[in-house]
Parts: sequence; structure tokens; C-alpha cells
Amino acid sequence: MTQKNGRPLILVILGRQGSGKGTQAALLAERYGVVHVSTGDMLRAAVTSGTELGMRAKAVMDAGNLVGDDIMIGVVAERLAEADIRTRGVLLDGFPRTTAQADALAEILGGIAPDLAINLDVPIAEVTKRMLARGRDDDTEETISRRLDLYETETAPLLAWFEDRGCLAVVDGLGTEDDVFARLTEVVDALQ
Ligand code: AMP
Repeated sequence: MTQKNGRPLILVILGRQGSGKGTQAALLAERYGVVHVSTGDMLRAAVTSGTELGMRAKAVMDAGNLVGDDIMIGVVAERLAEADIRTRGVLLDGFPRTTAQADALAEILGGIAPDLAINLDVPIAEVTKRMLARGRDDDTEETISRRLDLYETETAPLLAWFEDRGCLAVVDGLGTEDDVFARLTEVVDALQ
């Protein structure tokens, strides 16, 4: 199942950093045949290869801040215009992260909201524990708390944005990877 209303699925996954959304997004993309677009992965790849984007993003990411909306919207608009996404659809992971990005996404999609935005819900205490355990370079206690603060102020209002457009699903992100995946597929399958 990759179609809704005769066109490829457009899905968004939201969740605090450390909620497991990257892992689940990869599994979902495989299950539904949509292209997994992770803006965090794109930025990390740009940092590694030393592109202009990477050089601009590195300090911002290291500080746990958000890369500017203009830059992110440009990056995603360019990616969404590619042929694979037009034919297979997309699962956006890490974008949109602000209401300005959500407005831009609706515009890129020709005025429509995504088919479904899933909020993978894991409490703050649990994500903090998980992030400290994974030991990524940009995961110090300070940047973790900065990113979680930003999530509450910038990204949580997005839930209302999607809810207003009737496409928000909240999924409990606690439990085993399999349990969470089963809950996620249930909401995506319900789109048919
Ligand atoms: P993630 O892997 O999604 O946690 O992203 C890692 C970092 O990349 C974030 O902490 C931000 O600095 C940056 N980033 C990723 N996606 C976005 C976005 N949509 N808007 C702004 N910054 C982003």
C-alpha cells in the first residue's frame, strides 16, 4: 500500500530526539515503499563531506540549536522535487520542525497537508536517558536539554498545526521496537 487517493503517500514522523523515530522511520519506509528523508541524516552527511551546507550547519547542530528555516526549507524543497519521491512518496523524518517549515511544506505540496503526521510519543525523562546512553558527539547533557526545550517551544505547536488539518496521529513510543512498529503500521494501514 503506497497510495492514497491515487497518489503516493506523504507521511511525516514527529517525536522528541531519542524517541526512536529514526529507527521506526526506516522500518516504515521499507514496509510502505516510500522514500525515507531524514533532515538530520542529510545535515550530518553534509557536515562529513564538508559542503557549504555542512559548514553552515555544523556549529548550529553542535550547540543543539535548529538550522534556520530558510536553509532547511530550501534543502527539503529540492529533495522533494526529485523523481523518486514523485513516484514512491515520502516519509519525512525531522522535518517540519517549526510551523514556518510546516507552512512551507504545505506550499511545496501544492496547498495540501500530508496524509498523516505521526507523533511518536516518549516522555522527556525516558528520551533523556536514551540519548545519554547512545553517546553521539552532539549528545551532551547541555545539548540534550537545549534540544528538548526547543522541541517543546518550536515543535510541539506543530502538533496543533497537524491536528487542525485532521492528519495527526499520536502513537505511544514506549515498549519494544516491534511493539512500537505494530502500533505505527496500524495507523498507516487505517489510511487505506
Ligand atoms: P535529528 O537527527 O533529527 O535529531 O537532527 C539533528 C540536528 O539537525 C538537530 O538538532 C538540528 O540542529 C538539525 N536539524 C535537523 N532537521 C532540522 C529541521 N527540520 N530544522 C532545523 N534544524 C534541523
